[in-house]
Amino acid sequence: MKIGVLASQGAFAEHIAALQQLGVETLPVRLLEELTGLDGLIIPGGESTSISSLMLGYNLMDEIRSLAKNGLPMFGTCAGMILLAKRVSDLSVEPIGVMEITVKRNAFGRQKDSFEAKLPIPVLGEKPFPGIFIRAPLIEHGNSGVEILARLADGTSVAARQEKLLASAFHPELTNDLRLHQYFLDIVAGRQ
Ligand code: GLN
Repeated sequence: MKIGVLASQGAFAEHIAALQQLGVETLPVRLLEELTGLDGLIIPGGESTSISSLMLGYNLMDEIRSLAKNGLPMFGTCAGMILLAKRVSDLSVEPIGVMEITVKRNAFGRQKDSFEAKLPIPVLGEKPFPGIFIRAPLIEHGNSGVEILARLADGTSVAARQEKLLASAFHPELTNDLRLHQYFLDIVAGRQ
């Protein structure tokens, strides 16, 4: 199994480290040819406007879009979730646009309003997941076909799955809890 991590900008190194801990072959993706032969792709957190314009500038956007439409599993965290969404509240981001979700950027305020929340995520088992939210987006709406995997205590949706696409508003790569990465690998392997 070979998993690429989009490395245009943002927290890609932490995702690579998490995948290495899980014993998976992984490589940073910056160029079009590096998208060949992948079994899955992670779109990291960072700044969605920058990641989107770098994807366009390096000719990655169309290929990633068509790989997602053809069923390549993808996992987007924070800015990565914004990029997977079909509808983004802020029109300055051109998303990949493959998940039937509407997301709102910077939904919890500024950098200083970053927070950590213990999230119940039933598909990962009983133990709550440490959700780290940094200028995070939220999911305003998911169409049919979208399964909401996690909510904050007030009901706000913060993680979702649509077939082989997975998205979280928080940063699992900044914790020692590898369960969400493992869940993604199970999707890639067809076990989930
Ligand atoms: N605020 C960023 C954006 O809108 C996302 C932040 C993050 O990925 N931690 O793109």
